[in-house]
Amino acid sequence: MNQKIADELRRIAGAENITTDEPMDRHTSFRIGGPADYFALPQTEEQIKGLLSFCKSEGLPYFLMGNGSNLLVGDDGFRGLIIQLWKNYGRIEMRENEIIAQAGAMLSAVARTAALAGLTGMEFASGIPGTIGGASVMNAGAYGGEMRQIIRSVTMLTPESAITEKSCGEMEFGYRSSYAQKHNCIILGARIVLSPGDKDQIMEKIEDLRMQRVSKQPLDLPSAGSTFKRPEGFFAGKLIMEAGLRGFTVGGAQVSEKHCGFVVNRGGATASDVCALMREVRRRVKEMSGVELEPEIKMIGCSL
Ligand SMILES: Cc1cc2nc3c(=O)[nH]c(=O)nc-3n(C[C@H](O)[C@H](O)[C@H](O)COP(=O)(O)OP(=O)(O)OC[C@H]3O[C@@H](n4cnc5c(N)ncnc54)[C@H](O)[C@@H]3O)c2cc1C
Repeated sequence: MNQKIADELRRIAGAENITTDEPMDRHTSFRIGGPADYFALPQTEEQIKGLLSFCKSEGLPYFLMGNGSNLLVGDDGFRGLIIQLWKNYGRIEMRENEIIAQAGAMLSAVARTAALAGLTGMEFASGIPGTIGGASVMNAGAYGGEMRQIIRSVTMLTPESAITEKSCGEMEFGYRSSYAQKHNCIILGARIVLSPGDKDQIMEKIEDLRMQRVSKQPLDLPSAGSTFKRPEGFFAGKLIMEAGLRGFTVGGAQVSEKHCGFVVNRGGATASDVCALMREVRRRVKEMSGVELEPEIKMIGCSL
Protein backbone atom coordinates (compact mmCIF):
# COMPACT_ATOMS: atom_id res chain seq x y z
CA MET A 1 0.00 0.00 0.00
CA ASN A 2 1.32 3.39 -1.01
CA GLN A 3 0.13 6.35 1.08
CA LYS A 4 0.34 8.82 -1.81
CA ILE A 5 -1.92 6.65 -3.95
CA ALA A 6 -4.38 6.21 -1.07
CA ASP A 7 -4.48 10.01 -0.53
CA GLU A 8 -5.11 10.65 -4.22
CA LEU A 9 -7.91 8.04 -4.34
CA ARG A 10 -9.49 9.72 -1.30
CA ARG A 11 -9.29 13.09 -3.03
CA ILE A 12 -11.03 11.66 -6.11
CA ALA A 13 -13.78 9.60 -4.47
CA GLY A 14 -14.07 11.06 -0.96
CA ALA A 15 -12.23 9.78 2.12
CA GLU A 16 -15.33 7.98 3.40
CA ASN A 17 -15.49 5.87 0.21
CA ILE A 18 -11.90 4.56 0.22
CA THR A 19 -10.26 1.97 2.45
CA THR A 20 -6.89 0.25 2.26
CA ASP A 21 -5.90 -3.38 2.87
CA GLU A 22 -9.58 -4.26 2.69
CA PRO A 23 -10.27 -7.97 3.42
CA MET A 24 -12.26 -9.24 0.45
CA ASP A 25 -13.87 -12.08 2.38
CA ARG A 26 -16.15 -9.32 3.73
CA HIS A 27 -17.38 -8.50 0.24
CA THR A 28 -17.85 -11.88 -1.45
CA SER A 29 -20.71 -14.32 -0.97
CA PHE A 30 -18.07 -17.11 -0.79
CA ARG A 31 -16.62 -15.36 2.31
CA ILE A 32 -13.17 -15.96 0.80
CA GLY A 33 -10.45 -13.55 -0.32
CA GLY A 34 -7.32 -11.77 0.88
CA PRO A 35 -6.92 -7.98 1.08
CA ALA A 36 -7.26 -5.50 -1.76
CA ASP A 37 -4.58 -2.80 -1.49
CA TYR A 38 -7.24 -0.16 -2.18
CA PHE A 39 -11.01 -0.49 -2.12
CA ALA A 40 -13.54 2.09 -3.34
CA LEU A 41 -17.29 2.43 -2.96
CA PRO A 42 -17.95 5.37 -5.31
CA GLN A 43 -21.26 7.19 -5.15
CA THR A 44 -21.27 9.21 -8.37
CA GLU A 45 -20.45 8.78 -12.05
CA GLU A 46 -17.79 11.50 -11.69
CA GLN A 47 -16.06 9.52 -8.93
CA ILE A 48 -16.13 6.32 -11.01
CA LYS A 49 -14.66 8.14 -14.02
CA GLY A 50 -12.06 9.82 -11.83
CA LEU A 51 -10.96 6.52 -10.29
CA LEU A 52 -10.72 4.88 -13.70
CA SER A 53 -8.60 7.62 -15.26
CA PHE A 54 -6.33 7.71 -12.20
CA CYS A 55 -5.75 3.95 -12.50
CA LYS A 56 -4.97 4.35 -16.20
CA SER A 57 -2.57 7.24 -15.74
CA GLU A 58 -0.75 5.57 -12.82
CA GLY A 59 -0.76 2.06 -14.33
CA LEU A 60 -2.63 0.86 -11.21
CA PRO A 61 -4.50 -2.42 -11.84
CA TYR A 62 -8.23 -2.16 -11.10
CA PHE A 63 -11.18 -4.51 -10.90
CA LEU A 64 -14.87 -3.65 -10.93
CA MET A 65 -17.26 -5.69 -8.78
CA GLY A 66 -20.92 -5.66 -7.83
CA ASN A 67 -22.23 -7.70 -4.91
CA GLY A 68 -19.40 -10.27 -5.15
CA SER A 69 -21.85 -13.13 -5.59
CA ASN A 70 -20.07 -14.68 -8.57
CA LEU A 71 -16.54 -14.00 -7.47
CA LEU A 72 -13.56 -15.91 -6.10
CA VAL A 73 -10.76 -13.64 -4.84
CA GLY A 74 -7.34 -15.21 -4.27
CA ASP A 75 -5.87 -15.73 -0.81
CA ASP A 76 -3.22 -13.05 -1.39
CA GLY A 77 -5.87 -10.56 -2.40
CA PHE A 78 -5.43 -7.97 -5.14
CA ARG A 79 -2.51 -5.60 -5.74
CA GLY A 80 -4.48 -2.66 -7.01
CA LEU A 81 -7.89 -0.99 -6.66
CA ILE A 82 -11.16 -2.86 -6.36
CA ILE A 83 -14.13 -0.63 -7.18
CA GLN A 84 -17.46 -1.87 -5.87
CA LEU A 85 -20.63 -0.50 -7.44
CA TRP A 86 -23.12 -1.32 -4.76
CA LYS A 87 -26.09 0.02 -2.84
CA ASN A 88 -24.65 3.54 -2.59
CA TYR A 89 -24.67 3.67 -6.39
CA GLY A 90 -28.05 1.99 -6.57
CA ARG A 91 -30.78 4.50 -7.31
CA ILE A 92 -33.97 3.02 -8.75
CA GLU A 93 -36.38 5.18 -10.77
CA MET A 94 -39.74 4.25 -12.29
CA ARG A 95 -41.15 5.69 -15.51
CA GLU A 96 -44.46 4.02 -16.36
CA ASN A 97 -43.52 0.44 -17.29
CA GLU A 98 -39.77 1.18 -17.32
CA ILE A 99 -37.31 0.97 -14.47
CA ILE A 100 -34.06 2.87 -14.66
CA ALA A 101 -31.60 1.45 -12.17
CA GLN A 102 -28.02 2.35 -11.35
CA ALA A 103 -25.51 -0.49 -11.56
CA GLY A 104 -25.28 -1.01 -7.81
CA ALA A 105 -29.01 -1.59 -7.26
CA MET A 106 -29.67 -5.12 -6.04
CA LEU A 107 -31.80 -7.28 -8.33
CA SER A 108 -33.99 -8.17 -5.34
CA ALA A 109 -34.71 -4.46 -4.73
CA VAL A 110 -35.47 -3.75 -8.39
CA ALA A 111 -37.70 -6.83 -8.65
CA ARG A 112 -39.54 -5.74 -5.50
CA THR A 113 -40.02 -2.22 -6.85
CA ALA A 114 -41.45 -3.72 -10.03
CA ALA A 115 -43.76 -6.05 -8.11
CA LEU A 116 -45.09 -3.25 -5.91
CA ALA A 117 -45.83 -1.22 -9.03
CA GLY A 118 -47.67 -4.19 -10.58
CA LEU A 119 -45.05 -4.79 -13.27
CA THR A 120 -44.33 -8.33 -14.39
CA GLY A 121 -41.30 -9.87 -16.17
CA MET A 122 -38.61 -9.61 -13.52
CA GLU A 123 -39.79 -12.26 -11.09
CA PHE A 124 -37.11 -14.73 -12.34
CA ALA A 125 -34.36 -12.40 -11.09
CA SER A 126 -35.71 -11.67 -7.63
CA GLY A 127 -33.66 -14.40 -5.91
CA ILE A 128 -30.37 -13.87 -7.77
CA PRO A 129 -28.12 -12.18 -5.22
CA GLY A 130 -26.41 -9.80 -7.66
CA THR A 131 -26.52 -6.16 -8.69
CA ILE A 132 -28.00 -4.76 -11.91
CA GLY A 133 -24.41 -4.21 -13.16
CA GLY A 134 -23.21 -7.74 -12.36
CA ALA A 135 -26.38 -9.33 -13.71
CA SER A 136 -26.28 -7.29 -16.94
CA VAL A 137 -22.64 -8.05 -17.64
CA MET A 138 -23.21 -11.77 -16.90
CA ASN A 139 -26.65 -11.90 -18.58
CA ALA A 140 -27.76 -13.61 -15.38
CA GLY A 141 -30.74 -15.91 -15.63
CA ALA A 142 -32.93 -18.37 -13.80
CA TYR A 143 -36.19 -20.29 -14.22
CA GLY A 144 -36.43 -19.58 -17.94
CA GLY A 145 -35.73 -15.84 -17.64
CA GLU A 146 -32.58 -13.93 -18.59
CA MET A 147 -31.58 -10.29 -18.24
CA ARG A 148 -31.59 -9.87 -22.01
CA GLN A 149 -35.37 -10.40 -22.04
CA ILE A 150 -36.00 -7.32 -19.89
CA ILE A 151 -33.14 -4.95 -20.71
CA ARG A 152 -33.98 -2.15 -23.14
CA SER A 153 -30.55 -0.50 -22.96
CA VAL A 154 -27.43 -0.29 -20.84
CA THR A 155 -25.25 2.72 -20.04
CA MET A 156 -21.56 1.92 -19.89
CA LEU A 157 -18.17 3.44 -19.36
CA THR A 158 -15.70 2.15 -21.96
CA PRO A 159 -12.06 1.43 -21.06
CA GLU A 160 -11.29 4.70 -22.89
CA SER A 161 -13.53 6.52 -20.36
CA ALA A 162 -16.32 7.31 -22.84
CA ILE A 163 -19.92 7.02 -21.67
CA THR A 164 -22.12 5.21 -24.16
CA GLU A 165 -25.62 3.74 -24.22
CA LYS A 166 -26.09 0.40 -25.98
CA SER A 167 -29.42 -1.11 -26.92
CA CYS A 168 -30.24 -4.66 -25.89
CA GLY A 169 -29.38 -5.88 -29.42
CA GLU A 170 -26.01 -4.11 -29.36
CA MET A 171 -25.18 -5.74 -26.02
CA GLU A 172 -24.63 -9.09 -27.83
CA PHE A 173 -26.03 -11.07 -24.90
CA GLY A 174 -25.18 -14.77 -24.86
CA TYR A 175 -25.18 -17.47 -22.22
CA ARG A 176 -23.61 -15.68 -19.21
CA SER A 177 -21.87 -13.27 -21.57
CA SER A 178 -22.28 -9.80 -23.06
CA TYR A 179 -20.55 -7.12 -25.10
CA ALA A 180 -19.62 -5.33 -21.86
CA GLN A 181 -17.88 -8.45 -20.55
CA LYS A 182 -15.93 -9.02 -23.79
CA HIS A 183 -14.86 -5.38 -24.04
CA ASN A 184 -14.14 -4.74 -20.38
CA CYS A 185 -16.72 -1.96 -20.02
CA ILE A 186 -18.12 -0.75 -16.71
CA ILE A 187 -21.91 -0.86 -16.58
CA LEU A 188 -23.28 2.27 -14.95
CA GLY A 189 -26.97 1.46 -15.23
CA ALA A 190 -29.72 -0.25 -17.13
CA ARG A 191 -33.13 0.61 -18.49
CA ILE A 192 -35.51 -2.29 -17.86
CA VAL A 193 -38.83 -2.66 -19.60
CA LEU A 194 -41.65 -4.69 -18.05
CA SER A 195 -45.37 -5.28 -18.63
CA PRO A 196 -48.36 -4.44 -16.49
CA GLY A 197 -49.53 -7.41 -14.43
CA ASP A 198 -51.41 -8.40 -11.33
CA LYS A 199 -49.53 -7.42 -8.17
CA ASP A 200 -50.72 -10.40 -6.10
CA GLN A 201 -49.83 -12.88 -8.84
CA ILE A 202 -46.38 -11.30 -9.23
CA MET A 203 -45.77 -11.55 -5.46
CA GLU A 204 -46.96 -15.14 -5.49
CA LYS A 205 -44.57 -16.05 -8.29
CA ILE A 206 -41.65 -14.43 -6.47
CA GLU A 207 -42.49 -16.42 -3.34
CA ASP A 208 -42.87 -19.64 -5.33
CA LEU A 209 -39.43 -19.18 -6.95
CA ARG A 210 -37.93 -18.36 -3.55
CA MET A 211 -39.27 -21.62 -2.14
CA GLN A 212 -37.83 -23.54 -5.10
CA ARG A 213 -34.40 -22.02 -4.40
CA VAL A 214 -34.62 -22.76 -0.69
CA SER A 215 -35.51 -26.39 -1.35
CA LYS A 216 -32.84 -27.02 -4.03
CA GLN A 217 -29.89 -24.75 -3.25
CA PRO A 218 -27.46 -24.76 -0.30
CA LEU A 219 -28.39 -21.24 0.78
CA ASP A 220 -27.29 -21.90 4.36
CA LEU A 221 -23.61 -22.01 3.33
CA PRO A 222 -21.45 -19.39 1.58
CA SER A 223 -21.02 -20.01 -2.15
CA ALA A 224 -20.86 -18.16 -5.46
CA GLY A 225 -23.82 -19.93 -7.02
CA SER A 226 -23.25 -22.34 -9.91
CA THR A 227 -19.54 -22.97 -10.11
CA PHE A 228 -19.45 -24.13 -13.73
CA LYS A 229 -21.37 -23.05 -16.82
CA ARG A 230 -23.99 -25.38 -18.17
CA PRO A 231 -22.30 -27.38 -20.95
CA GLU A 232 -24.44 -27.65 -24.06
CA GLY A 233 -26.78 -30.62 -23.77
CA PHE A 234 -25.84 -31.37 -20.14
CA PHE A 235 -26.23 -30.07 -16.60
CA ALA A 236 -22.98 -29.43 -14.74
CA GLY A 237 -24.44 -30.52 -11.39
CA LYS A 238 -25.68 -33.81 -12.81
CA LEU A 239 -22.33 -34.60 -14.45
CA ILE A 240 -20.54 -33.85 -11.16
CA MET A 241 -22.95 -36.06 -9.25
CA GLU A 242 -22.57 -38.90 -11.76
CA ALA A 243 -18.80 -38.65 -11.39
CA GLY A 244 -19.35 -39.56 -7.73
CA LEU A 245 -18.31 -36.15 -6.43
CA ARG A 246 -21.25 -35.25 -4.20
CA GLY A 247 -19.68 -34.01 -0.94
CA PHE A 248 -16.16 -34.16 -2.39
CA THR A 249 -14.03 -31.96 -0.14
CA VAL A 250 -10.70 -30.12 -0.30
CA GLY A 251 -9.86 -28.26 2.91
CA GLY A 252 -12.91 -26.13 3.72
CA ALA A 253 -14.35 -26.29 0.19
CA GLN A 254 -16.94 -28.89 -0.72
CA VAL A 255 -19.12 -29.95 -3.64
CA SER A 256 -22.49 -29.24 -2.04
CA GLU A 257 -24.31 -32.32 -0.79
CA LYS A 258 -27.60 -30.58 -1.62
CA HIS A 259 -26.78 -29.38 -5.16
CA CYS A 260 -23.63 -30.66 -6.87
CA GLY A 261 -23.50 -27.58 -9.15
CA PHE A 262 -22.50 -25.47 -6.14
CA VAL A 263 -19.16 -25.41 -4.34
CA VAL A 264 -19.72 -24.32 -0.75
CA ASN A 265 -17.47 -22.94 1.95
CA ARG A 266 -17.91 -25.31 4.91
CA GLY A 267 -15.91 -22.90 7.08
CA GLY A 268 -12.39 -21.58 6.65
CA ALA A 269 -12.16 -22.48 2.95
CA THR A 270 -9.37 -20.73 1.05
CA ALA A 271 -9.32 -19.78 -2.61
CA SER A 272 -6.59 -22.43 -3.05
CA ASP A 273 -9.00 -25.05 -1.64
CA VAL A 274 -11.72 -23.99 -4.10
CA CYS A 275 -9.32 -23.98 -7.08
CA ALA A 276 -7.88 -27.40 -6.17
CA LEU A 277 -11.41 -28.77 -5.82
CA MET A 278 -12.52 -27.27 -9.13
CA ARG A 279 -9.47 -28.70 -10.94
CA GLU A 280 -10.21 -32.18 -9.60
CA VAL A 281 -13.92 -31.90 -10.46
CA ARG A 282 -13.03 -30.89 -14.03
CA ARG A 283 -10.53 -33.73 -14.34
CA ARG A 284 -12.92 -36.40 -13.11
CA VAL A 285 -15.91 -35.16 -15.10
CA LYS A 286 -13.78 -35.05 -18.25
CA GLU A 287 -12.51 -38.56 -17.55
CA MET A 288 -16.02 -39.89 -16.95
CA SER A 289 -18.04 -38.10 -19.63
CA GLY A 290 -15.59 -36.39 -21.96
CA VAL A 291 -17.23 -33.02 -21.12
CA GLU A 292 -14.95 -30.07 -20.38
CA LEU A 293 -16.49 -27.92 -17.62
CA GLU A 294 -15.90 -24.16 -17.88
CA PRO A 295 -15.98 -22.02 -14.74
CA GLU A 296 -18.95 -19.68 -14.42
CA ILE A 297 -17.50 -17.90 -11.40
CA LYS A 298 -15.04 -15.07 -12.06
CA MET A 299 -11.64 -15.27 -10.44
CA ILE A 300 -9.19 -12.57 -9.47
CA GLY A 301 -5.79 -13.25 -7.97
CA CYS A 302 -6.22 -17.00 -8.53
CA SER A 303 -6.72 -19.35 -11.46
CA LEU A 304 -7.36 -22.98 -12.30
C1 LIG B 1 -26.77 -18.45 -3.79
C2 LIG B 1 -26.51 -17.94 -5.16
C3 LIG B 1 -27.44 -18.16 -6.17
C4 LIG B 1 -27.20 -17.69 -7.46
N1 LIG B 1 -28.14 -17.91 -8.43
C5 LIG B 1 -27.92 -17.47 -9.68
C6 LIG B 1 -28.89 -17.68 -10.71
O1 LIG B 1 -29.95 -18.25 -10.49
N2 LIG B 1 -28.61 -17.22 -11.96
C7 LIG B 1 -27.45 -16.56 -12.26
O2 LIG B 1 -27.26 -16.15 -13.43
N3 LIG B 1 -26.52 -16.34 -11.30
C8 LIG B 1 -26.72 -16.77 -10.04
N4 LIG B 1 -25.78 -16.55 -9.07
C9 LIG B 1 -24.51 -15.88 -9.43
C10 LIG B 1 -24.53 -14.34 -9.29
O3 LIG B 1 -25.48 -13.93 -8.33
C11 LIG B 1 -24.81 -13.66 -10.62
O4 LIG B 1 -23.80 -13.97 -11.58
C12 LIG B 1 -24.88 -12.13 -10.48
O5 LIG B 1 -25.32 -11.58 -11.70
C13 LIG B 1 -23.53 -11.51 -10.14
O6 LIG B 1 -23.75 -10.17 -9.78
P1 LIG B 1 -22.80 -9.41 -8.76
O7 LIG B 1 -23.28 -8.00 -8.69
O8 LIG B 1 -22.70 -10.14 -7.49
O9 LIG B 1 -21.43 -9.47 -9.57
P2 LIG B 1 -19.96 -9.81 -9.00
O10 LIG B 1 -19.95 -11.20 -8.46
O11 LIG B 1 -19.50 -8.74 -8.10
O12 LIG B 1 -19.14 -9.77 -10.36
C14 LIG B 1 -19.36 -10.76 -11.35
C15 LIG B 1 -18.71 -10.29 -12.66
O13 LIG B 1 -19.40 -9.13 -13.11
C16 LIG B 1 -18.50 -8.04 -13.25
N5 LIG B 1 -19.25 -6.84 -12.85
C17 LIG B 1 -19.97 -6.64 -11.71
N6 LIG B 1 -20.56 -5.42 -11.74
C18 LIG B 1 -20.19 -4.85 -12.91
C19 LIG B 1 -20.46 -3.60 -13.53
N7 LIG B 1 -21.22 -2.66 -12.95
N8 LIG B 1 -19.88 -3.34 -14.74
C20 LIG B 1 -19.08 -4.25 -15.34
N9 LIG B 1 -18.78 -5.45 -14.80
C21 LIG B 1 -19.33 -5.74 -13.60
C22 LIG B 1 -17.31 -8.35 -12.36
O14 LIG B 1 -16.15 -7.71 -12.85
C23 LIG B 1 -17.24 -9.86 -12.50
O15 LIG B 1 -16.55 -10.21 -13.67
C24 LIG B 1 -26.00 -17.00 -7.76
C25 LIG B 1 -25.07 -16.76 -6.74
C26 LIG B 1 -25.32 -17.23 -5.46
C27 LIG B 1 -24.31 -16.95 -4.38
